[in-house]
Amino acid sequence: MIKTTPQEPKGLYLETFGCQMNVSDSEKIVSLLREVGYHTVDDPGTADLILLNTCSVRAKAESKVYDYLGRYKVRKMRDDRLIIGVGGCVAQQEGERLLKKVPYLDLVFGTHSLHLLPELVRAAERGERRAVTDFIDTETRLNLFPEADDTGAVSRFVTIMQGCDNFCSYCIVPYVRGREISRRSAEIITEIREMTARGVKEVTLLGQNVNSYGLKTPDELHFADLIRRIAAIDGIERIRFTTSHPRDISPELIACFAELPALCGHIHLPAQSGSDEVLARMNRGYTRSEYLATVAALREARPALLMTGDIIVGFPGETEDDFEATLSLLEEVRYVDLFSFVYSERPETAAAGFSDRLTRTVKQGRLERLQRRQREITRDICDAMVGTVQRVLVEGLSRRGDQLTGRTEGNRVVNFAGDPVHIGQLVDVTIIHAYPNSLLGEIHREDETCTGR
Ligand code: SAM
Ligand code: SF4
Repeated sequence: MIKTTPQEPKGLYLETFGCQMNVSDSEKIVSLLREVGYHTVDDPGTADLILLNTCSVRAKAESKVYDYLGRYKVRKMRDDRLIIGVGGCVAQQEGERLLKKVPYLDLVFGTHSLHLLPELVRAAERGERRAVTDFIDTETRLNLFPEADDTGAVSRFVTIMQGCDNFCSYCIVPYVRGREISRRSAEIITEIREMTARGVKEVTLLGQNVNSYGLKTPDELHFADLIRRIAAIDGIERIRFTTSHPRDISPELIACFAELPALCGHIHLPAQSGSDEVLARMNRGYTRSEYLATVAALREARPALLMTGDIIVGFPGETEDDFEATLSLLEEVRYVDLFSFVYSERPETAAAGFSDRLTRTVKQGRLERLQRRQREITRDICDAMVGTVQRVLVEGLSRRGDQLTGRTEGNRVVNFAGDPVHIGQLVDVTIIHAYPNSLLGEIHREDETCTGR
């Protein structure tokens, strides 16, 4: 049936699942679809187009997508002009199959197809159902600058690379994001210059393994040089990056932490396990002691560095001793925060064929023990910040709207009373209370000294 194009303006409801890469892709989706007349709405009930930008890193994230699609089915039955689309990692993994599984779905766009979205939406408006999941091996498709709907944004994500060549045995990312590919540094620098001209003060460089930026591209900068170039851009106050593979942290990158004040004192450095046997079976490419040596070198370069990490518990064959080794890694590293997951078997990955799978009870029990210990460590580190003065980049109003909110260099959220004139500024804040997920502060008086991290 031919669909009639709804009257302008058309509403886009976009639901984003998963990592910061997806959040960044969603910004690009919003910008691309604005060009063909779609503006975001907060209520799917008023949308002409509903898109799900999905994640398939764990089975739970994947099944969520089907739950959400189920919710929109009734509306679609009532209003055939509604367009429903799925993008991101589940779309890449399932492709055409998704159109067959979900008969009321109009379009499927894979992780390399963002730039084709306006065309796909127009086709859906004409009643055509399409799935596009080809991998495109040129970096030009990554040069989608999100259009400025961000007047007033202080901090922005910048994708510097996509894909991954590491093939950790548990991970689906190389299969759904494709081989690692770096954007040209000239494009990245132009994009950041445009951002700073609009008032952006902080950028977070994104990629699955940012440390290997440029290594596969002849005549391209390497990651540490890219950071140095960005630090020299007028108006850039802070640089962050994620994610780092511990094996690929170079001495040049460590030197950046010692030498560049704009590089924030925080690193997300996923260990995944504290046991050498498990790390080897995960195909991580480093041992526990190599990981700890990297942590020590980073802390020597930047003593106040705060670290976060990722841990997977219940990997096939993980013994109680292996798990104890992971618990003891927490004691040695003292992460300020940890993202911890129960191992989830993923199609196509090497570990899907491993024997010695653990029961759900054992996996869940280990996760709870790990998270209990981490909560204590987080509380101790954050309690120790009470009374210190932190330099905070003020990003806006707090969720309740009655305070200012921003982040410390170490990436802890701080809320404090203050004049909105401070939004976009670096302000020294004395921490007066630590909550599990945020800090409460007050503007620092001149007679105190700054001890921030
Ligand atoms: N590139 C990053 C790295 O090397 O650490 C991680 C990217 S991945 C999207 C984010 C995290 O999800 C991983 O660090 C890992 O802890 C977790 N993860 C990935 N695959 C998983 C699986 N099959 N089961 C459970 N957790 C998984
Ligand atoms: Fe997945 Fe490993 Fe690549 Fe990270 S480095 S995206 S965990 S394969």
